[in-house]
Amino acid sequence: MTLNIPFDNSYAALPAGFYSRLDPTAVAAPDLISFNRDLAALMLITETSDAELTMLFSGNAVPEGAAPLAQLYAGHQFGQFNPQLGDGRAILLGETVGRDGVRRDIQLKGSGPTPYSRNGDGRAWLGPVLREYVVSEAMHALGVPTTRALAAVRTGEMIQREAMRPGAVLTRVASSHIRVGTFQIFAARRDVIALRQLFDYTVARHYPDCTTPDALLQAVIDRQAALVAQWMSLGFIHGVMNTDNCTLSGETIDYGPCAFLDFYDPETVFSSIDRHGRYGYASQADIIVWNMAQLATALLPLMPDADAAVAQFTDQVHAMPELIRQEWLARFAAKIGIGTPKPEDAALIGDLLTRMHGNQADFTNTFRALSDGTARDQFTDPTAFDSWAEGWQARIASDPDAIQRIRQTNPAFIPRNHRIEQMIAAAVAGDDAPFHRLNAVLSRPFDDQPDAEDLRRPPAPSEVVAATFCGT
Ligand code: AMP
Ligand code: MG
Repeated sequence: MTLNIPFDNSYAALPAGFYSRLDPTAVAAPDLISFNRDLAALMLITETSDAELTMLFSGNAVPEGAAPLAQLYAGHQFGQFNPQLGDGRAILLGETVGRDGVRRDIQLKGSGPTPYSRNGDGRAWLGPVLREYVVSEAMHALGVPTTRALAAVRTGEMIQREAMRPGAVLTRVASSHIRVGTFQIFAARRDVIALRQLFDYTVARHYPDCTTPDALLQAVIDRQAALVAQWMSLGFIHGVMNTDNCTLSGETIDYGPCAFLDFYDPETVFSSIDRHGRYGYASQADIIVWNMAQLATALLPLMPDADAAVAQFTDQVHAMPELIRQEWLARFAAKIGIGTPKPEDAALIGDLLTRMHGNQADFTNTFRALSDGTARDQFTDPTAFDSWAEGWQARIASDPDAIQRIRQTNPAFIPRNHRIEQMIAAAVAGDDAPFHRLNAVLSRPFDDQPDAEDLRRPPAPSEVVAATFCGT
């Protein structure tokens, strides 16, 4: 093997109770779909032949220096505590420290069964693999903290889902895979020694300035508040905000049934498994607080005085909605051109959103069009926009940077759900061109790209995707 991945593995040095060591399971006929050369270069991974990339990123060969393992964690799934989950179809190969000094995990997803597979087959099918590749890379280009995609490989095997589907393996990169659920498993087992080791590890890796559990809790609350407000500002719906899909790093993780809004409706739910709308667009701001309450609960055993800690953590969690409101206001104010928001701007923004909702206005295109005078065309009744715009124009009139700010905060391109579904259908039929085109266009989401206007259009009635299936 000539590929050099400069592994520097720290998770594998944690006690054996944190994971199970095992190799990925080889696949029949691996075929490389994509390798992310920019990300590889950032991670100091050297170039090699496609043949070798195919072997390594299918799991058919284990690269030198890797310490493959499946991580253990628990989690609340749709509010229900599951005391043991873990990587049921993922294997962490190890970590590298990149050219930017950042330590990143390299994880194969869909790489075969593990001791945590329960009844699953340990595999992923092509659709969710390509969805995660495109959407996570698009989120990165949009400036959102997120896991990334290093490679995608077809396995040459068919797997059983709603129907027989072509299998694939995604190589995911993350600044770590530590989840709220990783803390929960040791707290639930009352294993305070392991909990303390996880705390020390997390602090050293992500929050070196945090010496106490309450400081860690606050740091995670701050990052998650900012993250969810940023999701909302882009019309992003995660779809499955279980505590095992909620990172300590503050990165977006697990692109299963995620989707972006087309027309604005705050009650939008895409996920086919989210029957009660727990993880709908607007609910995300509430659910993240609930998730942070679970993190707080898991950290309690590390605090010296339980009663005092409960009181303090409660205050921290109760203060989170206000933090989210501030982050939301800053993001949405920028979207309408305001650099320094005032409290009363929330009403101006809320009024626009209400009118958008009532007029079937496309979320992304309406905000982008505020920069070129065509936003009214997005409304079924354009005068609903005009009467709002009078107050808005007065608000930004004296700011020469307003239009530029609108263009920098409102993308022209997002990974629209119907385009993703069309891309997946093409890839299943053997045509990867739409996948590569989506990646190329979405790598520059804030640039006008006249030859990609078709990717800006919301779905025609026949193209609307009503539900997105869970990424299993
Ligand atoms: P997710 O909803 O994708 O975050 O997955 C929740 C849990 O189910 C995790 O522990 C996954 O590893 C596990 N899981 C999901 N799909 C499979 C599969 N096909 N085989 C084994 N485990 C799976
Ligand atoms: Mg998950």
